[in-house]
Amino acid sequence: MTILGIDLGTTNSLACYWDGDKPVLISNALGSVLTPSVVSLGEDGQILVGQIAKERLVTHPQLSAATFKRYMGSRRELHLGTLPFLPEELSSFVIRSLKQDAEAFLGKEVTEAVISVPAYFNDAQRRATKRAGELAGLKVERLINEPTAAATAYGLHGEQSETKFIVFDLGGGTFDVSIVEIFENLLEVRAVAGDNYLGGEDFTELLASLFLQHHQLNGEELNDKELAVVYKQAEQLKQNLSRGKAAEMRCVLGERELTYSLTHDKLEKEAEGLLRRLRYPVVRALQDASLRPENLDAVILVGGATRMPLIHAFVSKLFGHLPACSINPDEAVAIGAGIQAGMKARNLALKEVVLTDVCPYTLGTDIVRENAAGYKESGYFFPIIERNTVIPASRIKRLYTSHNNQKAIEVEVFQGESRLTKNNIELGRLEIPVPPGPAGREAIDIRFTYDINGILEVEVTAVSTGVKRRAVIEETPGSMPQAEIEARLAALAALKIHPRDKQENQLLLARGERLYEEALGDTREIIALWLAAFEQALDRQEERKIKPAAAVLKQRLDSLEQGYF
Ligand code: ADP
Ligand code: MG
Repeated sequence: MTILGIDLGTTNSLACYWDGDKPVLISNALGSVLTPSVVSLGEDGQILVGQIAKERLVTHPQLSAATFKRYMGSRRELHLGTLPFLPEELSSFVIRSLKQDAEAFLGKEVTEAVISVPAYFNDAQRRATKRAGELAGLKVERLINEPTAAATAYGLHGEQSETKFIVFDLGGGTFDVSIVEIFENLLEVRAVAGDNYLGGEDFTELLASLFLQHHQLNGEELNDKELAVVYKQAEQLKQNLSRGKAAEMRCVLGERELTYSLTHDKLEKEAEGLLRRLRYPVVRALQDASLRPENLDAVILVGGATRMPLIHAFVSKLFGHLPACSINPDEAVAIGAGIQAGMKARNLALKEVVLTDVCPYTLGTDIVRENAAGYKESGYFFPIIERNTVIPASRIKRLYTSHNNQKAIEVEVFQGESRLTKNNIELGRLEIPVPPGPAGREAIDIRFTYDINGILEVEVTAVSTGVKRRAVIEETPGSMPQAEIEARLAALAALKIHPRDKQENQLLLARGERLYEEALGDTREIIALWLAAFEQALDRQEERKIKPAAAVLKQRLDSLEQGYF
């Protein structure tokens, strides 16, 4: 049985499996191991995933969705045309596409997966991720933290002898820092911190806003399509700046062609605010692990955005170390997930490795305190499992009644770090009856059990009566009742994912449409002719003629995009 390791990224997703002695990344129908986490509704009602959908983000923004992982675990609906989808449903299309690729590659059905999530994902986000897998028809028994996966990839495949290191993962939309210790084949995550709203896309946004500023344009005056064009060119500028000291972006907006050039030094200055935000989680993780930067033996860079030279420089300065990046930074998490999948299938080669993990947030309940005036006030957080506790973990705390003749105690479950529960996230609540009596006489024991998937079970026992109440916090904000899941499953199954075999041609057309929209005048005419010629070849349905026609069109579009035209 093959279990798939899936890196379900904000920007890109990958699948990897363990072939018996090493992790192997799976290429998609277009030959790439990175599948953009973008979904689009095609004209024929089929769901398009990946690079084609990414092209359509420009030409059909209303029918396309990206970066939905940012909303994972919320009930926020995103639309493909008029059809509403939850973030996990859009994610399930990405997973379905990876599953199809894996099945084509392996020549057999795949039914189970290990999926990675940012270490900072809360309970609702983790549940939503599991559901995404299930909606794609995969059993998901295990979720793994992304930095843990990356560390696994390095721990087992690097040639390092280090013992303590930090994983610095800057992806498209999330930033994770984790401090990992490896000792005699035992990998342990000591602390995690991060920012769910910080990633490479923020650098792209920064460049886009610099471009707009430079041309005294107001983003709000541009339509979706124009904004998408600016964003795409800003992304290109960012990537080009990773390769040289200066680069230029070019955008066609309406009748005007606008350019903007930027040097690396200027970018470094403009990005100061973002770099400052990268520093906080690093400092916190170090504090939580009681370590100083000089105690670390290595710094591992993960995530495509760490390819930016300014990130290398920032990290080197912060830690006084040159960062390690011997594994491709976009692939490390998937490789780790693939190894984990192999471990899960009880592969002997990895039996020695024990993995421990930590709880990313503090979990606790609400208590009443007496204020200076002698009044009892609720709303204070009472931690039960502290953040960075190694999981699985189980903790018991005893609490007493706070009022005379109290008949029941309500146990509210919160996640967060604030002293006041109103600033933390409520995960659920349960009530337990207690015999009435004077305040402080009756007690309850609250047991929190946090399992390896980051799922919380709460058990409350009334001490004097032995009455118990238990809850696996099912009704978290963003969770869905089983009946609803099944109904959605049926609805989603009816939506077909575009077949793998026609994708290259589809991509050429989608890319051609985008370039047509971006271009002006004669260039447009020429692109229109190229596309018409290709469509004719497709219409004739002669394989023999389609292939060379596709090659010609690809070469034409490539040279157009590289500016040789
Ligand atoms: P995620 O884990 O969020 O899916 P990835 O690890 O795939 O993200 O990283 C995606 C991010 O990496 C994007 O913001 C992308 O712009 C950025 N990126 C990829 N290649 C480069 C590059 N050469 N230079 C700068 N940024 C890059
Ligand atoms: Mg990632």
